[in-house]
Amino acid sequence: MTDFYAKLGMKTVINAADSYTMIGGSRMPPEVVEAMAQASRHFVSLDELHLRVGARIAELTRNEAAVVTSGAAAGLAVAAAACMTGTDETQVRKLPYPNGMKNEVVIHRCQRNGFDMAITQTGAKLIEIGDVESTFAWQLDAAIGERTACVMYFPSTQYSRGALPLEEVVRIAGARGVPVVVDAAAQLPPADNLWRYTEAGASLVIFSGGKTLCGPQSSGFIVGKESLIAACRLHVGPRISIGRPMKVGKEELAGLLAAVERYVGLDHAALKAGYEALVCSIGDGLREAGFDAARAYPGPTGQDYPLVKVDMSRAPLSAEQLAAALRSGEPSVLVALTWDKRDIIVNPLHLREEEAAIVVERMRSILAGLTNHEE
Ligand SMILES: *Cc1c(COP(=O)(O)O)cnc(C)c1O
Repeated sequence: MTDFYAKLGMKTVINAADSYTMIGGSRMPPEVVEAMAQASRHFVSLDELHLRVGARIAELTRNEAAVVTSGAAAGLAVAAAACMTGTDETQVRKLPYPNGMKNEVVIHRCQRNGFDMAITQTGAKLIEIGDVESTFAWQLDAAIGERTACVMYFPSTQYSRGALPLEEVVRIAGARGVPVVVDAAAQLPPADNLWRYTEAGASLVIFSGGKTLCGPQSSGFIVGKESLIAACRLHVGPRISIGRPMKVGKEELAGLLAAVERYVGLDHAALKAGYEALVCSIGDGLREAGFDAARAYPGPTGQDYPLVKVDMSRAPLSAEQLAAALRSGEPSVLVALTWDKRDIIVNPLHLREEEAAIVVERMRSILAGLTNHEE
């Protein structure tokens, strides 16, 4: 079928960057698409489907309970709301005005990020602890009070510098009877992260369905303690609540379950070997083309897979210029930049072999064009 995007006059993009929503996140494997198509053909009780799919995802991820959301960002809102209202339906209807409720969410200052808005849109108030460089146990302890709904925690390596270890957060919050919510949206692989954070004592852990899992883009899920997951269910729709605009369709429920089933059943050692081989061949190709490329590890948020890092310090163009040339070229290629924007990252997570070859060729031809020009 050529092609939905072509008909709209649009170019598709080769994703050498990451599971970025702005270019579509990830690609759904055929079994996920098929599950969504099957689910689309009938009417069914959405409440019951939520319960059944949640139970199955809990089982597959070795957790007590699970609930499906319309993404990890929605998961943040739903989890924060659940920690504020519990299963009290009167309170559920009050949000985003948490009058008389616990409405404070404790968060490391060094873990603040753009997704905070998903938390504050519920009416929750963020209470920051520590600074960008360090956080002390007493600061967490002092921030917890009668109005604390939960402590939010981001295990991404991007936010680890200056943060207390999760185990310590769980110990301190646990002693005060306060749940810890972990945003693990992008923390796969390894697959055992699906149960590692709950095993470490987190009460709720949020995953994105549309990143490494390759489920529907508008899906995600929360795993954790049954009592809190029950409260989350009151906020995911279909009933009226603050989560109603974040409702999950039967197709997303079916597709996400198929994606989780597929992911836990994958041969992860073979997958990892595949990433290593791809990184190796991309690195070889780029060095041959004159780039200063090397294997880097771990993945962008600390995941267990390798990357190719291209050191641009001696190149005749900047990392940003090269990225822009790749993006506007034919075919269009999106690469990532390092945090300081000085170097290029080629990420194998969503790259097919033939696409990897195109990425190398596009980079080679841009560099060769410049070098010839100078001669
Ligand atoms: C990607 C991401 C999200 C949002 O996930 P969606 O499934 O796209 O809503 C939230 N938090 C973190 C840390 C993320 O990386």
